[in-house]
Amino acid sequence: MTSYVREINIELIIKLASMYINDINLSPLVVSEPSESYKSGETVNRWVEVLVDCPGASTELEKGEKLYTYRLPAKLEVKPGDILSVPFGLQRLGGVAIRILAKPPADLAAEKIKEVEDVIQRDFIGDSYFTLLERVSQYYYTQLIQVIRMALPPGLLRRSQHRIRLKRENIPNGAVEFLGLKAARQILQILQSQVDGDYSFKFLKRQVQGFDYGKKQLLERNWAESYVELLRYSQPQTKPVVTLVADGSYIDLNKRQREILKVLRDCGGELWLNEFLQICKTTTPTLKGLEQKGCIVIEEREVLRREQGPVLAKDQPKSLNTAQASALATIQTLDEFAQVLLHGVTGSGKTEVYLQAIAPLLNQGKSALVLVPEIGLTPQLTDRFRARFGNKVSVYHSALSDGERYDTWRQMLTGEPQVVIGTRSAVFAPLPNLGLIILDEEHDSSFKQDSPIPTYHARTVALWRAELENCPLVLGSATPSLETWVSVGRQGSGGAGGEFVTPNSSLFTPHSSLSTHYLSLPERINSRPLPPVEIVDMRQELQQGNRSIFSRSLQAALQELQERKQQGILFIHRRGHSTFVSCRSCGYVLECPHCDVSLAYHHTEEKAPELLRCHYCNYARSHPKFCPDCSSPYLKFFGSGTQRVTQELARQFPELRLIRFDSDTTRNKGSHRTLLTQFANGEADLLVGTQMLTKGLDLPQVTLVGVVAADGLLNLSDYRASERAFQTLTQVAGRAGRGEDPGRVIVQTYTTEHQVIAAVRSHDYQSFSQAELEQRQALNYPPYGRLILLRLSSLDPIQVQNTAQVIATALSTEEEFEILGPAPASILRVANRYRWQILIKFAPDALPRLPDWEEVRSLCPSSVSLTIDVDPLNIM
Ligand code: ADP
Ligand code: ZN
Ligand code: ZN
Repeated sequence: MTSYVREINIELIIKLASMYINDINLSPLVVSEPSESYKSGETVNRWVEVLVDCPGASTELEKGEKLYTYRLPAKLEVKPGDILSVPFGLQRLGGVAIRILAKPPADLAAEKIKEVEDVIQRDFIGDSYFTLLERVSQYYYTQLIQVIRMALPPGLLRRSQHRIRLKRENIPNGAVEFLGLKAARQILQILQSQVDGDYSFKFLKRQVQGFDYGKKQLLERNWAESYVELLRYSQPQTKPVVTLVADGSYIDLNKRQREILKVLRDCGGELWLNEFLQICKTTTPTLKGLEQKGCIVIEEREVLRREQGPVLAKDQPKSLNTAQASALATIQTLDEFAQVLLHGVTGSGKTEVYLQAIAPLLNQGKSALVLVPEIGLTPQLTDRFRARFGNKVSVYHSALSDGERYDTWRQMLTGEPQVVIGTRSAVFAPLPNLGLIILDEEHDSSFKQDSPIPTYHARTVALWRAELENCPLVLGSATPSLETWVSVGRQGSGGAGGEFVTPNSSLFTPHSSLSTHYLSLPERINSRPLPPVEIVDMRQELQQGNRSIFSRSLQAALQELQERKQQGILFIHRRGHSTFVSCRSCGYVLECPHCDVSLAYHHTEEKAPELLRCHYCNYARSHPKFCPDCSSPYLKFFGSGTQRVTQELARQFPELRLIRFDSDTTRNKGSHRTLLTQFANGEADLLVGTQMLTKGLDLPQVTLVGVVAADGLLNLSDYRASERAFQTLTQVAGRAGRGEDPGRVIVQTYTTEHQVIAAVRSHDYQSFSQAELEQRQALNYPPYGRLILLRLSSLDPIQVQNTAQVIATALSTEEEFEILGPAPASILRVANRYRWQILIKFAPDALPRLPDWEEVRSLCPSSVSLTIDVDPLNIM
């Protein structure tokens, strides 16, 4: 923990805190008892703002009303980030010191302010961690309180308990005689009567009259210390553990008993009893026998409620190929802030590089943070980490139970070297002494939070965190985001470049001094080839009389799969209800005449006109009956769910065993793992699913990958559509042929001539990024411009539309940025709320004078809510 303690930048905090102090509504505070420090003439009164986690206040979350002002007693040193005990109504609660004030708030009479009781834990939130939270607050225009609340596990402070424990080494003989106060003597006696010398305030208060004064005396003498116990469940979870204490060479043992001891020795001399029984296929009585002979000890030990993985065979580092070795060598030379792009084709062994980069750090006493896109991907990945690092690995994501989250937190705060694997929120994992941050599949959009606020991107936050911790950040991907590609200086490489500006997308880190590295793993492990990608033109299928959603080529491949006892993956793109319209005869896609994006199909209710709309500028037109290009009547909107596809499969291939893998079938905890295990065990021939199939699956027996219709991806009404399509198709294709048997990929589309399709077919990231960046630059889209999206929503369709108009008009007086919209969100109504949005576009380097968001908010009636989404990814 100590390395985590640094000086805090109070000025910065004051500056930042002044951003939100105005709308804090202080609670009615009760007159405090006069205290000594208050009477003393010399003491300068100081005040502190405390984020109090008070029960019942959670209903007022939105307004940030949970910051309260307290007076500091004369001798109490408090720093932002400390956990304090403060009086609140009739209770005493835990809270985090946020900032120190020289004056009490003007609207609060000084004598009404209560006094902080004590510091319970110093530097609970370390300096750099605090700075991180502040940056998030400032960059994403979110109150600091809301950021803190998001970063801490829910109800952390509420669950805490205040305790006191003896410091026996400081207590002289006959100590009781030295204590003036009866209460102090009583507390000392109670504490001494117990082995641990440790009780909760609550318990002692019931036993001892005048507990507070008595406790104070003990603390002043430094005979005891108070602390906050984060989450002590009334019954800590314990489990029996078996420990080897003698190797048995001189003890009379039978062969079986010696075998068992050998297993225990091979496993490091210690195992949970249940795992041991499982591994040795033995029984508790047998072990008890060994215990009686003095070879082992069986005892109860507390288990932190971390998500437990299955028992795994210990895995050894693989010997690296040349590209891996050279990538690892570079990463290992970095011991300061740096950004690395590890660009490795699918199956090139990126994970092995991560593992070997982490191993030496753990030996140096440092920790590593590994961020991954989604839970669906974590079981396989975490298994690989656990097989290498055993119980040094913990998993942190929002699907954990509360108990697991707390315990994982506690585990992190111990400062022991460890590896935390988690989804985007784990970027806030309070790991002291970070040596490395890894973002795997860094291009993945699930690293961005759309709601609730703060709408942070874990990659952006990870970069700040790496800077604050002064450690390298490794971004890994087969299909890097264009932002990352440009940020490591790759634009213009491998072709005619043109003049590219390197954008500076971060407000806080000029990054001029940031050292960046590009590392490439251009080949698959064992020089396995990337699978050939066959593009099937579905227009021709239709012309030739095939009306099935499966092309003849895909049908044949599915048939073959069964015959050869191989496995396949069928990918279906499905996203919301929004969809574009295209011609099934010629592939023509209806686009906005002003914005270069496809129009989205809107059909709110029966008999209402079918409309096509642009989500950027709000251009609208009616749905034409015939294709404007070839006059074919087969002008259809797209959208084909997993359910429909599985029905069709069941009809055409009744023998084929399927597993559906999508958000419907993976809702329960552990279901990802169950389904994937079933598939890996060969209990099905085909895995049918959506987006989550594309991520990180490493199943050597998969030879076929089919994409039912690429068009849903190609023509999203979003400037990122091409990038996302290329990434998704390349990733899903990358699941094929990872083992001995060669793989093949079949992509069905109505737009074979699309630039993305060509790039996917030739596995050509370079030319794709080149062409795409040129378009982005021409239109000032990221990474060459920055965006802020204002999302408005209301139950009242008229009011939200009017408000959007009012705000857009107010903003349009500014010249430093461009306003697009207002326009309705593509799914206009969600959970009965009507949604509109305004897009603000500006140059990345010269930061414009951005609007005063408080003023903008004041234009919103209370029935309309406004979210400011900085660097939005999801514009639809
Ligand atoms: P990526 O993450 O780049 O798609 P993986 O890390 O999943 O690739 O590696 C693909 C497969 O190759 C995995 O099964 C992994 O265990 C294996 N592998 C990785 N590196 C090596 C190596 N140096 N030697 C042998 N096998 C390796
Ligand atoms: Zn047409
Ligand atoms: Zn438009």
